[in-house]
Order: sequence, then structure tokens, then C-alpha cells
Amino acid sequence: MFQTYHANDDDQSSYHTLIKLDGTIFYIVPPDKRAFGAGNSVFASTRGIEGVKTNRLFPPSVNNFAYHISFESPVDGRGNGRSHSGYTDAQYKSAAWLVARTGVPEERVTTHKGVDRSRTRIDPRSFDMNKFRQYLSAFPKTQEILIGCPTAAPTVNPPDGAF
Ligand SMILES: [Zn+2]
Repeated sequence: MFQTYHANDDDQSSYHTLIKLDGTIFYIVPPDKRAFGAGNSVFASTRGIEGVKTNRLFPPSVNNFAYHISFESPVDGRGNGRSHSGYTDAQYKSAAWLVARTGVPEERVTTHKGVDRSRTRIDPRSFDMNKFRQYLSAFPKTQEILIGCPTAAPTVNPPDGAF
């Protein structure tokens, strides 16, 4: 599902990586290729509102420049509840180790809920950003993992620019 090309953009769904409860990282989509981890989405930063429109029928998204990490949910999170018992320490450590290798600055780490514009996404549910940041600060920052589609830099609009 995540590695297959889907001709219809409506069917696209993928992440660059998936982190199991025991911290194992699965590399699914190469980091320089677009993964479809978010639909209608933009990233609001000090540079403005960032998004890339790749299909005239769809709203802009962060997919061309975002590195998408997905977490296996604990057993009690496998329904549609608004929360669950939380991710494991091993998952936070693996995510921090991974992000440290992308060179992405801490202030550009966000969630699907944080970039979503459809107001339907609430994931990652029960994610503890402070715990993640604590682990992130413990790892040296490198750029071993080069992320983003090289030919598609994000479009930056002024903060009040309308998409
Ligand atoms: Zn999501």
C-alpha cells in the first residue's frame, strides 16, 4: 500500500518511515521522494505559510518537503478513540534518533494535526512533544538523511497570504 504508486491522488497514502512499538524503524519511502502523509496541509513558520500544490484539483500540502514518520499505535489505540495509553519510550528514542539525522531544526518538527487544514486530523494521538524534544536534544544533529524532493522547494507565502 505505502510503496505502490497510485495513479489516483485520492488513493495516495504513505510515510517515509514507520516506527514499531519496540522502536524498530521501517524505511518505506526513500527520503528524497515524496510521501503522502498529509492531504490538505501547510506549514506555518517564521518564513510564512509553506505548502506545495502538485495537483490543480487538490489543495496545497506539505508532502513535497515533509519527512513523514508514522508510529505504530498501542493496542488500546487501534480504534477511533481520541487518545490512547501513549507511545513507548523506544518509539520516542527512535523518532528522535531519526529526526536528528535529517538536520531538521526542532522548530520545524510538527504533527499531522499541526499542519492539517481539513480540521479532521488529530494524530498523532497522545503524542508527548516535550518527551520527544528531550530525546531529540540528546542526539548529535547530522544531515545523513537528505529529505525533500530536490526539484520542488516549498512555496512561501506571507503569513496572511491566501492559498
Ligand atoms: Zn496522519
